[in-house]
Amino acid sequence: MKLYNIQEKIYMAYYDTAQEAARSLIRFQEFYDNEVFRDKVGFTIKEYREWYKRKWKSRFDYYSSIVGFNIPAFIFEYFIEGDFGRLTKREQEVIRKVKKTKPAYVIGISKQNKSAIKHEIAHALYGTKTRYRMAAEKIILKYNTEKIHRWLKKDFHIEETIADEIHAYIMDDLDHLKEEDIYREEYIDAQKELRELYNRNVKKKRYKWQKMQEEEEK
Ligand SMILES: [Zn+2]
Repeated sequence: MKLYNIQEKIYMAYYDTAQEAARSLIRFQEFYDNEVFRDKVGFTIKEYREWYKRKWKSRFDYYSSIVGFNIPAFIFEYFIEGDFGRLTKREQEVIRKVKKTKPAYVIGISKQNKSAIKHEIAHALYGTKTRYRMAAEKIILKYNTEKIHRWLKKDFHIEETIADEIHAYIMDDLDHLKEEDIYREEYIDAQKELRELYNRNVKKKRYKWQKMQEEEEK
């Protein structure tokens, strides 16, 4: 894994495969944004796996189905302080790099799922820039997002991250909303507004890490 600085205090954990990303970030992600696990300090991957299979009545396909991650820095503190006991090798790698760089926010993607990147950067901007967050909230309030809200709740997102998710989905994932049958025509306008906001806030500097990636992948 490489931890790239994207802008200011935002870092991107970049993995070769989606599997590696998910296996490394699962507990950080679910401790942050899962209605059931947010209070379960110290939960194990096994506990999560059992819960997942029960809830979705399916095999455990998290490692192949979740391809983007967003984690504010305060989450890592619990893992650094030892509240989660012994960490896996993959988690230790994350913590080692986080300790060194002191990010405010970490997003995670893999080489196999680069398309998730804008959605995740949007979360990072939302989580680190108050002005961006306020402007995004103001935009989504103008539109009817009730169905997306319900869909996110059913997916165990915590109430506090729902507006954030709605803004990220509308900004860069309308196809996904179509698939879920929660799309509305008016989101075209919402998307335009959110994209303008995003483009004003995302630093062109990020092209530097893209170049670094390309170099390494040669
Ligand atoms: Zn998201």
